[in-house]
Amino acid sequence: MKICKSIDGLRAVIKEGKVPLGLVPTMGSLHSGHISLIRKARSENKTVVASIFINPLQFESTDDLNLYPRSLENDLGILREECVDIAFTPPITEMYPRGFDTIVRLGLASRIFESQFRNGHFDGVSTVVCKLLSLTRADRAYFGQKDAQQGVIINKMNSDLNLGAEIIMMPTVRETDGLAISSRNVHLSPAERKAATILHKSLNLAESMGTKDAQTIKKGMQTMIETEPLARLEYISISDAFTLEEVEQLEKPALISLAVWVGKTRLIDNTTLK
Ligand code: AMP
Repeated sequence: MKICKSIDGLRAVIKEGKVPLGLVPTMGSLHSGHISLIRKARSENKTVVASIFINPLQFESTDDLNLYPRSLENDLGILREECVDIAFTPPITEMYPRGFDTIVRLGLASRIFESQFRNGHFDGVSTVVCKLLSLTRADRAYFGQKDAQQGVIINKMNSDLNLGAEIIMMPTVRETDGLAISSRNVHLSPAERKAATILHKSLNLAESMGTKDAQTIKKGMQTMIETEPLARLEYISISDAFTLEEVEQLEKPALISLAVWVGKTRLIDNTTLK
């Protein structure tokens, strides 16, 4: 596996490699969710690039950025085991050198639900993914359904800016009790870890309610989440799975997504109702 820290170095290695090229962007602290993306990329491409870059542009506060878990050596070991060809691990100054002054901002899709609580987050995501797609010229790029709004935004950006990659969304990998695996789960205390299953339980409830009325589903989920004293609901959204516009009645595939604080950790999860 080649490890590239610079953009020039990455471009030179890619030039020597074979196509198709699959890209898996990550912020490191790799877990089985990331590994599912890497394996899919490995099975479909001649060259696999995995990036590990904790993107400061997508964090709202320096505290949150500083708290984000880091485990580069362990991550590189995992990438080697998974037969990744190139690990791209740029320092911040390589991605955002002095004078960097361009932001890729989407319209509606980056202003609604999750963005109302994480100001500028998706501008940071779309900017870094745009850079990664253009500098690797990836044929395919792999993302997790766990970050559903991110997936919609990247698809839209890829198509609006003619970046030419095929965007592949992979199902959410979960712990045996249903909690969506996330790098942030390490921040949960044992009691919080138990409480965190409430997200998945409330999504299961939504699926089993058998009603098409969005307000009824939201109310049911909210009532369930309120039974968990360590959980604080931030939002529940029921939207069109493709446009992310809120719906009142579930007619087309609908995305139910929610964000819940468990202690000091903010967790998100979602499901798509066909
Ligand atoms: P992150 O390192 O958190 O930025 O995530 C990198 C990629 O892995 C994103 O496309 C995430 O959606 C995806 N991902 C994170 N957690 C999971 C999971 N539990 N299942 C599937 N994909 C995931």
